[in-house]
Amino acid sequence: MYDGYTRTCGLIGNPVEHTISPLIHNYLAEKMEDNLVYVPFHVPQGQVEEAVKGVFALNLLGCNVTVPYKSEVIPYLEQIDPLAQRIGAVNTLVRQEKGFKGYNTDMPGLYRALERDGVKIQGAETLILGAGGVARAVAILLAEKGASRIVILNRSVEKAFHIAQEVNGYVGRELVEVLPLTEYRKLTGSYLVIQATSVGMYPRVDEVVIDDPDFYKLIHTGYDLIYNPQVTRFVQLVRQSGGKAYNGLGMLLYQGVIAYELWTGKAVSDELADKVYDKMVEAMGNKNLVMMGFMGSGKTSVGMELSYLRKSVFVDTDQMIEEREGKSISEIFATEGEEAFRDKETKLLKELAGSLHGKILSVGGGTPLREENRRLLKEIGTVIYLRICPETVYERLKSDNTRPLLQCENPLERICALLEQRKEVYEDAADVVVDVDGLTMEEVISIIQSKITSSLDTEEVKQIEKGAE
Ligand code: NAP
Repeated sequence: MYDGYTRTCGLIGNPVEHTISPLIHNYLAEKMEDNLVYVPFHVPQGQVEEAVKGVFALNLLGCNVTVPYKSEVIPYLEQIDPLAQRIGAVNTLVRQEKGFKGYNTDMPGLYRALERDGVKIQGAETLILGAGGVARAVAILLAEKGASRIVILNRSVEKAFHIAQEVNGYVGRELVEVLPLTEYRKLTGSYLVIQATSVGMYPRVDEVVIDDPDFYKLIHTGYDLIYNPQVTRFVQLVRQSGGKAYNGLGMLLYQGVIAYELWTGKAVSDELADKVYDKMVEAMGNKNLVMMGFMGSGKTSVGMELSYLRKSVFVDTDQMIEEREGKSISEIFATEGEEAFRDKETKLLKELAGSLHGKILSVGGGTPLREENRRLLKEIGTVIYLRICPETVYERLKSDNTRPLLQCENPLERICALLEQRKEVYEDAADVVVDVDGLTMEEVISIIQSKITSSLDTEEVKQIEKGAE
């Protein structure tokens, strides 16, 4: 239970709604009996300085920082750890007397995950796929931990050269070599490979940077920094040619564990870290629930109550769009038109598909009108259609003048026409239908709870049957 002594840690980023970090830290706090709570903070663009000053003023013990602010946050820190300085990215803020000290726990996190998996860097021939921000930090880690050889393979060769030059300058010898991606056949030897490109990430799960099985014969251990999906094509190919392969969940886990240790000054045991890992795997397999239906059907209120009951996070796509755009839905409709709004909606659903786990989502009444959105909603989770009749909608919304679609002479007629037009679309998009007319919120929730249990059971049965085939 939280009280006047509860310490708060948080995450600042944009977006933060998909994060799994609260699970890591709140579970650690519970098991380590620390009076601490961890919450995500969505920080609008241009307000990083205010966010850092604000969380310090509010006496937060520490914060994580995620994209796009890992570098942007640096000027607002009191101190920076030398490793974070060298990498140029901070993902953890630790409270000091007059401000925060910035650390990078991503690379130490990767190192601890490698150690936990029994993978040695010292004296190893290593290869990095990619030359983005993370690949650069991986090159620094491999150099610091004594790799005997580091080869960077990347599509844009100049970016790889840039990293090589920097790391070689720092170690004072030609340790890092560069090879264009297309020239991988020139390689000989046996490598520890870190897959640090974004290729293979959800939803493009069938893609891999090099598809030639011969390349995988050179790999004794493959580390894919991607964790969604948990088994990428890269991981499959390494395993198929006899190598050991791991995904990025270990790095994600240990960057959190190290941050927690920095905040509390207490060591997290490997046994507890393993339990957190299991929780993360379980949460990532959890389906989201998507509340869908006509305006006034109760998507937001039912969704919020469900999130409270199921102890999960509630996400409202209309609200996310309003925050991102800095204007209300009515204003977007009025200034940019409905099509532009729908484009924003589709873009957001694409981001959410594959990145949310075990959350409750409420989407706009018109979201399922696009076929692409209906497909995306099903990818995101179990879609619950709150079905309502026109008269109930009218009763609920007759005095609400914030709904652009109802600003007309005869709103009831408009509601009847729109509902008739959307009926089939809603039914096509739904996994579960709940008729809400005449029901209290508690009754609606109780029907949803029983229907989703049976719908999930059916899916599980289907999966078991599929496995048995
Ligand atoms: P980034 O800066 O955007 O770099 C992406 C890299 O992927 C670049 O080298 C890019 O090559 C390459 N790439 C993208 N599309 C490609 C394609 N079609 N063919 C060949 N190469 C392609 O990304 P980042 O921030 O470094 O992140 C890299 C990966 O690390 C991501 O998958 C991310 O999920 C993962 N990550 C994991 C964790 C964790 O905790 N496990 C934490 C952070 C990041 P070019 O240079 O040629 O464009």
